[in-house]
Amino acid sequence: MITGQCECGAVAYEADKISETASFCHCTQCRRTSGHYWSAVMAPLDGFRLTQERGLAWYASSDWAKRGFCNACGSSLFYQLKGEDAINIAAGTLDDSSGVKPGKHIFCKDRGLYYDLPNDAPHIEKY
Ligand SMILES: [Zn+2]
Ligand SMILES: [Zn+2]
Repeated sequence: MITGQCECGAVAYEADKISETASFCHCTQCRRTSGHYWSAVMAPLDGFRLTQERGLAWYASSDWAKRGFCNACGSSLFYQLKGEDAINIAAGTLDDSSGVKPGKHIFCKDRGLYYDLPNDAPHIEKY
């Protein structure tokens, strides 16, 4: 069982299964919402459960996606495309990320200029 939570515990989740790799998005929106670049694993919705949602709030970041965060501590937790049967979970919120490997870096063209792109995974200019 995979578990994770926000910094204060007002949002917590569990998942039967997550992707073996994390994706890293360097787009401007992800950088703003996460404070750096967004790192996420993906979980099928049918094996995903919120075990605490007291602090959960959603922000419609575009016409096609929303972002879940904790309105008590401010942690960025989720990114979900409309109609998709999976949810993206911020890799930093996992209790144990030992089984997760670097996947790919996307929207590299939009990255912040204050850091170098890690060479741990393929770079993709856009998506
Ligand atoms: Zn919180
Ligand atoms: Zn992004």
